[in-house]
Amino acid sequence: MQLVARREALAEDLRQATVQLINDESVYTDSVDQAAAETDKTLTLQMKNRDRNVLWQIDEALKRLNDGSFGDCERCGESISEGRIEAFPFTTLCIDCKAELESEEHRFPGRM
Ligand SMILES: [Zn+2]
Repeated sequence: MQLVARREALAEDLRQATVQLINDESVYTDSVDQAAAETDKTLTLQMKNRDRNVLWQIDEALKRLNDGSFGDCERCGESISEGRIEAFPFTTLCIDCKAELESEEHRFPGRM
């Protein structure tokens, strides 16, 4: 019951974050001189890439909310702790798997 309410609240947060990202578009279109415009363009491109990544994460999180797998670790299937979800709403790994993957990556650099 509590978990359902949490998921609802999170889904709402994600929807609002999406709306904010879409509305933010207009902020970056106002450029004055050429140098500033060039800098803006670079910044805008960087922002766009980041936004796309965030939107993708939101999308994935919403999908997981819809199919009920949100909050489960995609590696071991255990529930991800609430504290971790709160700190990293888009995470798909529990803290143990995350730590394990990171140490594996450390042992074999460049491989997942
Ligand atoms: Zn796990």
